[in-house]
Amino acid sequence: MNDGKICVSVCASNTDELIERIKRAAELADVIEIRFDKLDFAELEKTLEALKKIKKKIAQPLLAAMHKTVQTCAADGLSIPATGEVWEKIILADVAEMIDLYQGGTLAVVLESWNAADDWLPHFKPFMENVKKSLFICSFHDFNGLPDDLEKNYQWMKKTPAGVLKFAVQADDVTDALAVWKLLQKAKAENKKIIPIAMGESGKWTRILSLAHGAFMTYAALDAGSETAPGQVSARDLTEVYRAKELNAETKVYGIVGGNTGYSMSPYIHNAAFKFHHLNSVFVPLQVQNLDAFMRRMVKPETREMELNFRGFAVTIPHKQEIIKHLDAIDETARKIGAVNTVKIENGKLFGFNTDAQGFVEPLRNAYGDLKAAEVAVFGAGGAARACVYALKTAGAKVTIFARDAAKAENLANEFEARGAKFKAPNESYGEFDIIVNATPLGTKGEPENETPAVAAQIERVKLVYDLIYNPFETRLMKEAKSVFVPTLGGLSMLIAQAMAQQKIWTELDAPMKEMSAAALRRLS
Ligand code: NAP
Repeated sequence: MNDGKICVSVCASNTDELIERIKRAAELADVIEIRFDKLDFAELEKTLEALKKIKKKIAQPLLAAMHKTVQTCAADGLSIPATGEVWEKIILADVAEMIDLYQGGTLAVVLESWNAADDWLPHFKPFMENVKKSLFICSFHDFNGLPDDLEKNYQWMKKTPAGVLKFAVQADDVTDALAVWKLLQKAKAENKKIIPIAMGESGKWTRILSLAHGAFMTYAALDAGSETAPGQVSARDLTEVYRAKELNAETKVYGIVGGNTGYSMSPYIHNAAFKFHHLNSVFVPLQVQNLDAFMRRMVKPETREMELNFRGFAVTIPHKQEIIKHLDAIDETARKIGAVNTVKIENGKLFGFNTDAQGFVEPLRNAYGDLKAAEVAVFGAGGAARACVYALKTAGAKVTIFARDAAKAENLANEFEARGAKFKAPNESYGEFDIIVNATPLGTKGEPENETPAVAAQIERVKLVYDLIYNPFETRLMKEAKSVFVPTLGGLSMLIAQAMAQQKIWTELDAPMKEMSAAALRRLS
């Protein structure tokens, strides 16, 4: 266990809703933040009375926050002194053990309302007298990106009477988060309490790992969908999936390196395996746009700017090929496929593997049997198709690749001694094949969900339809197959099988299939 706290942030426009959310937050939080800026200020007196009552029923301290800038105050028709008065009412009501004053806005607003001049500290004193029972957090937010003057703000904020400094900046790439991480290291060296947050999917790792590295607190959403800032993890995921409070600086860190990690199932599947084996390991999303910068600034021992104890990565679109040049060695399968989906880091050296082929073929063998001489049609000629074709050819199957661009199908086919062709017309049958594999995104949740690369009449004579898509659980193609009594296999089995092979590479332990599948199913449902 580390010493950090999980703060669940709640907001509502009216008192009843706010109180209901506080009650739910109390099931998971160490601290509950109330975002007063989202409240209808006409409700303020009623809310403060309700907070006095609820405080008697919950153990957690309340944190009052009002992230209003001078500009948004003006937009809301609120004068600066009026905002100061709102703060004064909150503080005098004595409902919050912690107060967050926003450096860029509220603090300025408060100072203004107390007629602060250049020498503002003495003017601030009377206000702080009232706050003295509370822990004062001085916060800095930039929702637009990474400001140049973070360090300058840190120095300025350090001079305030704040007990804790909070920095929240927007990260558009994983390395943008380094700036707040460096402040964490600086604050630790100076014995100053700090909350470093990089907002957005690319900064999510800071929300998960900061407690392990000495942050005072991390913020979580009450539940998925009620985030009060971009990239917030739900409190349940933070405690039960990522085990953020159990992590420490020795925790082995793994992650999914991809261009868009927001929908990835990998954190759920891999953390379930680490939890099952009671390992001091965690798996986090690492949304990477610039792979070179990530490898140089965060991974390679000779150039990295911080040490997170990375031990391995799952690699996904669009980095599976580009990552190869950063590795010290890759195994034979990854070399033949020409793509790496797994990296293991040992003694600072990076080794690449590909578990997609194994993950693809194992469930297929279980469902179909021996693949020797089986006639297989693979739809799609992208990265996944590549691993499938390699695995099928290795198993002795006869493979034909179909794509919307015949040249792409033929190029891939030539690499693996297969055949390549353009998709058949809707009135032409795929009846000469034993197995159909869909390795296109046609049928994936979202826009292409109702699309299919083939309809029932085209596949009624095949023996098995294998769709690599796992969300939705049953795709349109699988429904087409079922309607003509053709057995189907969904992509979840491949997802789990390739992840199990990754776990074996990283931990050398047998991966717990039941727990990993259950974690994926829970997430999908
Ligand atoms: P990819 O490299 O982008 O390749 C996608 C392939 O699908 C390309 O051949 C592409 O053709 C084709 N395609 C895209 N849109 C199409 C459309 N509207 N009509 C016809 N063909 C289309 O992606 P990938 O990594 O191979 O992944 C493909 C699918 O497999 C994804 O849905 C992914 O979720 C799934 N997958 C599942 C697992 C698992 O564990 N279950 C693992 C990996 C992948 P063009 O080149 O002409 O664009």
